[in-house]
Amino acid sequence: MSNNLANKRGPAKKAIFFDRDGTLIVDKIYLNDPDQIEYLPGVFTALKKFRDAGFIFFIATNQSGVPRGRVTIKNLNEIHRRMKAKFAEHGVDILEFYYAPYLTDHDHIFRKPNPGMLLQAAEEYNVDLGKSWMFGDRLTDVEAGRRAGARTIWLVNDTAEKFEADSSREDLSQPDGCFSSVEESVPFVLRVDQE
Ligand SMILES: [Mg+2]
Repeated sequence: MSNNLANKRGPAKKAIFFDRDGTLIVDKIYLNDPDQIEYLPGVFTALKKFRDAGFIFFIATNQSGVPRGRVTIKNLNEIHRRMKAKFAEHGVDILEFYYAPYLTDHDHIFRKPNPGMLLQAAEEYNVDLGKSWMFGDRLTDVEAGRRAGARTIWLVNDTAEKFEADSSREDLSQPDGCFSSVEESVPFVLRVDQE
């Protein structure tokens, strides 16, 4: 094992994995312009509270816009660079921006509802998934979190399709908590974390 990997792993940590679009930033549908990033209300305050409770942070985002030709890797990387810098301004370090540039669930273990991005982070950073959470505005986010062995928060905001539960996912798409924003979830998550 290299020193670098050893440093990244360290002791077991609890993490929060965030979906990106519709969870931390407004879902612009195939966001490709870094100037169009729009943060959802309360996300910086919420992540500071989670940080103070000892959580580390990752993004886990499906980006089928890449194979569709709607999003370039160059712009995707720039969007993530700017997001990392913006959260850093608030004292919040998002350690990795994992993305799945695939069209279908069958294409790759990384594409949610598959749990690959969470499992990758767990391996790279020695994350204790049983003490970790996945946040997202789609049931595929919830399923990915559950399949990784994490707790889950379903953010029910203004997109009606989110209410359309896929019956084939019935067992795996039951969130631990359901809130309208990341900020609103904070007391619940911190309470469960202390149990
Ligand atoms: Mg989303």
